[in-house]
Amino acid sequence: MKKVEQSIKNYISETIRTIPDFPKPGIQFKDITTLLQDKKALELTSYMLASPFRGKLVDFVVGLESRGFLFGTNLAQDLNAGFIPVRKPGKLPAETLSEVYALEYGTDSVEIHKDAIFKGAKVIIHDDLIATGGTASAATELIKRLGGEIIGYSFIIELSFLKGRDLLPENIPIESIITE
Ligand code: AMP
Repeated sequence: MKKVEQSIKNYISETIRTIPDFPKPGIQFKDITTLLQDKKALELTSYMLASPFRGKLVDFVVGLESRGFLFGTNLAQDLNAGFIPVRKPGKLPAETLSEVYALEYGTDSVEIHKDAIFKGAKVIIHDDLIATGGTASAATELIKRLGGEIIGYSFIIELSFLKGRDLLPENIPIESIITE
């Protein structure tokens, strides 16, 4: 890895704080609000998220509720793509598809608008963090069910000890700025 890229990653990493035992005992919560409030980290994170996909044909960035919305629309703009939200149940107003998943803490389901993606659309799934991979994997199923083609995954942080990438397809690039 280039020296400058490593120093950018170090800078971003230092702006993220870890809150122990939130939202419940045993969880080391990665709080990106401290990254967002640092204007340099904000710009560098946008730059680093787009880097691996620049020059690729992307139709949509799918952002996962809710922290996947923070950089998701900006990433979509950087890649000349549209943005699609994947949301928690009951939030999307039109007809939806739903998929159940397991979180690092608890279980939930995610939804997407049925008419959000056209068949064969090239899609990047984005979230702030991948932990167990349950959320990204559920979003993967939603996109496949709508006939979309996932060409990449984009995260700010990957908690590699939780092996989230094992739940995602083997042949699709998973780009994380920071791996812990
Ligand atoms: P998972 O489905 O287990 O990969 O969990 C990913 C989702 O849960 C993401 O939307 C994260 O924002 C959130 N999440 C899970 N674990 C953490 C953590 N330790 N710190 C911050 N967010 C987390």
